[in-house]
Amino acid sequence: MSSRFCAIAPLLLLVLPVLSGCQGEQSDSAGSDAGTVASPLLPLVVYSARKEHLIRPLFDRYTALTGQPIEYITDSAGPLVARLQAEGSRSPADLLLTTDAGNLWYAAQQGLLREVTSSELERVPGSLRDPDGRWYGLSVRARTIVFATDRVSPEELSSYEQLADQTWSGRLCLRTAKKVYNQSLVATMIASIGEQQAESIVAGWVANLALPPFSNDTKVMEAIASGQCDVGIVNTYYYGRLKQERPDLELALFWPNQSGKAPLDRGVHINVSGGGVVVHSARPKAAATLLGWLVSPEAQTLFASLNQEYPVDPEGEVSETVAGWGSFKRDTINLSVAGEFQGAAIRLMDRAGYF
Ligand code: FE
Repeated sequence: MSSRFCAIAPLLLLVLPVLSGCQGEQSDSAGSDAGTVASPLLPLVVYSARKEHLIRPLFDRYTALTGQPIEYITDSAGPLVARLQAEGSRSPADLLLTTDAGNLWYAAQQGLLREVTSSELERVPGSLRDPDGRWYGLSVRARTIVFATDRVSPEELSSYEQLADQTWSGRLCLRTAKKVYNQSLVATMIASIGEQQAESIVAGWVANLALPPFSNDTKVMEAIASGQCDVGIVNTYYYGRLKQERPDLELALFWPNQSGKAPLDRGVHINVSGGGVVVHSARPKAAATLLGWLVSPEAQTLFASLNQEYPVDPEGEVSETVAGWGSFKRDTINLSVAGEFQGAAIRLMDRAGYF
């Protein structure tokens, strides 16, 4: 274990259940820990914005397979990134896991992640990872259209752009523009259809809103189900969760942008939860090995199904529930644009009155 880990160990005692071996030194090059006998391998430390119940089964499995213990803390992406910045080279973290390419891009931009490559990580499609190898997508979620099945027929829907048509006046519900998921959606629209066109679409959405934007996707769907609006845009796993709790709700998903003239046929906007090796990790090879295992077929099935998501490999196995939603063409734009155009997207939404 690195000495910097020991230096801040008292702080981490609050959140990390087991700390041992601070009398020894372990790194990828050293490979052994002279000071401890309890465990042949010292823990890898993961900072995770993915919730505990979604990652713990994977960590348990990895430990069972390899003997490599894993310790982790969970928090929102913002605080975890701020923590990595504050800790700097004294950080005990080896791996950062977080949702949304916009967040991963930001962490990489801040110099918090290091470049890693491996044959395992090559399994991640090029559009779902940083071109410089600082972060990799680990699961895919689609941000798609949801509609009220008793008031809307799927034939009335076609694309994100079409939700700006007058047909949907007073019938659209959206989540707040402050959420990174919507910033990433608009950022990829800017990259695909240009800023001017994207702005007129977003202004059209705002004009069609039935109610002010909601704080989360579930509230959007509840408003649709209760008849306050007819259509919305949500992440697929929130739909899965809500339908599991309330199968009676008359809601269904629609896959937009599947056909038509380019760029209208670009596919459904997808995003990832993903991870990267922390720049100051004392054990980057071990951290990259864990990251690589997370994209193995076994881990991918578990990683995706725990949150009703899709594996990064479009051919990968999905749960029965997710399969029931039907298949769709994914937008294959490189998700780095979610970060590169994030600032432009925020300013655009502000100008369009989308808050
Ligand atoms: Fe989410």
